[in-house]
Amino acid sequence: MAWCYLIHFDSPPRGKQRHYLGYTSNLAQRWGDHQAGHGSDLTKLAAKQGARMTLARVWPNGSRDLEIKLKQSGHFERNCAVCMMNAIAEALTVGEFGREVNVRVGAKINRRPDMYNPDNE
Ligand SMILES: [Zn+2]
Repeated sequence: MAWCYLIHFDSPPRGKQRHYLGYTSNLAQRWGDHQAGHGSDLTKLAAKQGARMTLARVWPNGSRDLEIKLKQSGHFERNCAVCMMNAIAEALTVGEFGREVNVRVGAKINRRPDMYNPDNE
């Protein structure tokens, strides 16, 4: 099985780039490589700077085509569980949860938050 996956950085290693999206046929090994600083240039830099990495979403049955499609969509925040939960926490804090609100990730939160699905585009 191959995977597409999304990594969230708590502190962006390069400017505003808070996410890394990749594709692999061995997710466990690849995730270990990223954490050890042997992955991509961006995760290497993140590891060097001590940025915390979270595997924020995975797509089973991933493909190069899906990776390209996801990268072209540019909707990393909407695909990211960390960003989604931060947005929900923010909405709860300001008392807006429960009615439809546009949060900073651009996702609509109603009674049941849905993750972005590229198939619905
Ligand atoms: Zn994120």
